[in-house]
Amino acid sequence: MSISKNLNNIKSILPEHVTLVAVSKTKPVSDLMEAYHADQRVFGENKIQEMVDKHDIMPKDIEWHMIGHVQRNKVKYMAGFVSLIHGVDNFKLLSEINKQAKKHDRIIDCLLQIKIASEDSKFGMTPNEALEILQSKDFSEFQNIRITGVMGMATFTDNESQIKQEFKLLKSTFEDLKKLKIPNCELQTVSMGMSGDYPLAIDCGSTMIRVGSSIFGSRNYSNQ
Ligand SMILES: *Cc1c(COP(=O)(O)O)cnc(C)c1O
Repeated sequence: MSISKNLNNIKSILPEHVTLVAVSKTKPVSDLMEAYHADQRVFGENKIQEMVDKHDIMPKDIEWHMIGHVQRNKVKYMAGFVSLIHGVDNFKLLSEINKQAKKHDRIIDCLLQIKIASEDSKFGMTPNEALEILQSKDFSEFQNIRITGVMGMATFTDNESQIKQEFKLLKSTFEDLKKLKIPNCELQTVSMGMSGDYPLAIDCGSTMIRVGSSIFGSRNYSNQ
């Protein structure tokens, strides 16, 4: 199947309120351009340097999303153009994003990554930690950040009821945070669902899915 056919298949079952992030990590620019010509404008990368390189040479009407774990010392490289940072999971990182956004005289949209999986390897904060950060005085002073939602990754398992439970936890965390009414928060996005579980994620209230291999084919890490 071609990239454009894969994209169109996914889009054909996507409710209107759900945004598709095409996860293009490790894929060559030619693959991304094929998706671009099929009208895809939102791309997700998990390494800052790779995203910067692709941004430099690709059309400028693309929205670039950082979906991976963010190293604080690299925020400066993407601060001028990144549209949304999905994986914000600590206060120091927020502080650095705010600082770099200010240098570029812009506001950077961020999602708080919530740990919903039972595995240890997944990054993220607890719902309570998210609540505490958003209610803190320090956070209220960040003028160059807007929290627009939450992001999570379910456990890698075949157990559908477990995945469903984890997605529901993310959705209810989103609803709880939404009640707070904090000035630099405009909660509208629940980023959950990947190639293996996005239909379930949408059923559980996802508004943004991050799909890689179902669009671009499986990834080959052997040459990295
Ligand atoms: C790689 C990645 C995806 C996409 O995974 P697929 O299974 O290829 O769809 C989604 N989210 C994050 C955070 C990723 O790192």
